[in-house]
Amino acid sequence: MRVYTDPACLEHDPGMDHPESPARLRAVLDALDAPQFTALQRLEAPRATREQLERVHDAAYVDRIFASAPGEGHARLDPDTVMSPGSLEAALRAAGAAGAATDAVLSNETRRAFCAVRPPGHHATRDQAMGFCLFNSVAVAAAHALAVHDIKRVAIVDFDVHHGNGTQDIFQHDVRVMYASSHQMPLYPGTGAASEHGDGNIVNAPLAPGAGSIEFRAAWSKFLLPELDMFRPQLLLVSAGFDAHARDPLADLKLATDDYTWITQCLCELADRHADGRIVSSLEGGYGPRRASRMHRRPCRDPGGFRSRAVTWCRAR
Ligand SMILES: [Zn+2]
Repeated sequence: MRVYTDPACLEHDPGMDHPESPARLRAVLDALDAPQFTALQRLEAPRATREQLERVHDAAYVDRIFASAPGEGHARLDPDTVMSPGSLEAALRAAGAAGAATDAVLSNETRRAFCAVRPPGHHATRDQAMGFCLFNSVAVAAAHALAVHDIKRVAIVDFDVHHGNGTQDIFQHDVRVMYASSHQMPLYPGTGAASEHGDGNIVNAPLAPGAGSIEFRAAWSKFLLPELDMFRPQLLLVSAGFDAHARDPLADLKLATDDYTWITQCLCELADRHADGRIVSSLEGGYGPRRASRMHRRPCRDPGGFRSRAVTWCRAR
């Protein structure tokens, strides 16, 4: 297994008290320094190319993100999504990691790859940055796989607590891609109802606030995994967000650490059945309790409420 990461991903700094902080990635990288992970191959993430980005984003949108990168200070793209001087490079490396990891698994250099990157990507639509996301890294990987490699079916699996509205938006009319998601509902961004099917390639399993292991495992084992089995993906991409954990401050699902072990095993078995074991996983959300204690002291300045994750979190407490 390989890990793709880049120091640039630590330089995206949305500002003091923003939950999507460099500390999140530092915690992941520190954990990967443990002795049991010494065998992992670590590779530097390349930058995504314009060609890769424009397979899933409008060219004008890509231009806008490049033009929005501030030389100093911050540029706010929406109530939650902020660019610092290091953000463009970080987002390019995050999307580039997913593309490079996809090349690696589809060239049989490795079977599994994890992209330890930020900012996250699954809320970014074709033409809108939102929910902390600039470029939709997993979407870039899926489109890259279909354009460059000899495969016809890619599945994107998303267990982040938030619905990946951007990924759904990009692929809802592209039946070469199946998007399967479990997420809390209601919650930001407000999409992800079970009735949203796309062209038959979108499967959403919304979970009520307070739902935990039983509901999560039932959603996957009884609904989402059987749909994925019928689709027979030749490559599995994972939007790996960990904010459905009971200790996460931004939402109200109650997953335990074991549930992530369980879903990972299920996805490995799925990939073994259909995709020669090929999985590329990319970090999405996951906001630790240490950040929560800082967020707790932050006043809610934006009364715009519903669309803002940070504000939603503040209101809940
Ligand atoms: Zn999330």
